[in-house]
Amino acid sequence: MTPGHAIGIDLGGTNIKAALVDASGAITYKAATICQPERGAETVISEMAQICQDLLGKGSLSAEDVVGIGLGTPGPLDLTKGEIVRAANLPGWTAVPIRDRLQELTGMPVVLENDANAAAFGEFWAGAGGGCGDMVMLTLGTGVGSGVIVDGRLLHGHFQNAGELGHMIIVPEGLSCPCGQRGCLEQYSSAGAVARRAIAALQAGETGKLRAILGQAGTVSSRDVVEAALEGDPLCRRLWRETCLYLAIACVNIQHAFNPATVVLGGGLAEAAEFLLIPVREEFRQNRWRLMVDVPEIVLASLAYDAGVIGAAGLAWAAWRQRPPQ
Ligand SMILES: [Zn+2]
Repeated sequence: MTPGHAIGIDLGGTNIKAALVDASGAITYKAATICQPERGAETVISEMAQICQDLLGKGSLSAEDVVGIGLGTPGPLDLTKGEIVRAANLPGWTAVPIRDRLQELTGMPVVLENDANAAAFGEFWAGAGGGCGDMVMLTLGTGVGSGVIVDGRLLHGHFQNAGELGHMIIVPEGLSCPCGQRGCLEQYSSAGAVARRAIAALQAGETGKLRAILGQAGTVSSRDVVEAALEGDPLCRRLWRETCLYLAIACVNIQHAFNPATVVLGGGLAEAAEFLLIPVREEFRQNRWRLMVDVPEIVLASLAYDAGVIGAAGLAWAAWRQRPPQ
């Protein structure tokens, strides 16, 4: 009998999220627990194995009823070895053979993938990608995560690091990025960057609605910037216009690199919805190569914070379909 489910896991620095997902991409059961990476990789992997058992219990299933486990984790990863090479938000974890250890503990096949790629695959498979084979997703959160789907498959590249689009240089000699480059997209068009740039402008003496919030709370959020821009605050309107312009230029570059049918925008900044989408589409139209008639549709993500677990499960389904029958 054909198994009816896959397990998707999204491992983050603070939470482990998991779900039992059917062949259509719908979640049957969810589970989550706090991730304490400082307790060591082996402990966390054991906890993930326990979550898998809990999910099977909730669904009254056994390991044979599941095609496998998809696991999205922070990277960089060595996909050949199935290892986390190291990760900024999993301190002390280096060369962790996470794929094989989880496989040993659960007895189920495990597919390892970068977390941003897993989220992109989720939107491609069961979300805003709409079933098209060529899609790019940008997750506008603390930074800009991304994943590229070409001909129905995640693009990894020769060095397995393809699609780090948050670090495409959008402003030559621009703002410094922790990656060591300057002018990366994520220094302008992520939720984190929008807040940081507003604070920097206020601290440099610019005035505006956010000065009071900064004075009271000691910080401002990207949501504060969006609200003030919606209310017509000149500083926030300028910052928002730049944010959307750089994002649109990134979409033009993405069109030339990958020619996707769809560019999906997700993450915290995409909660601004039409206020983000309309100017990005307009700037894209203004800046693109006019001779190209067919251009990608720029849309909002639809799976919100479930994209990671659904996409990880989707990768387990894809691996199962490619496995030769036993
Ligand atoms: Zn960078």
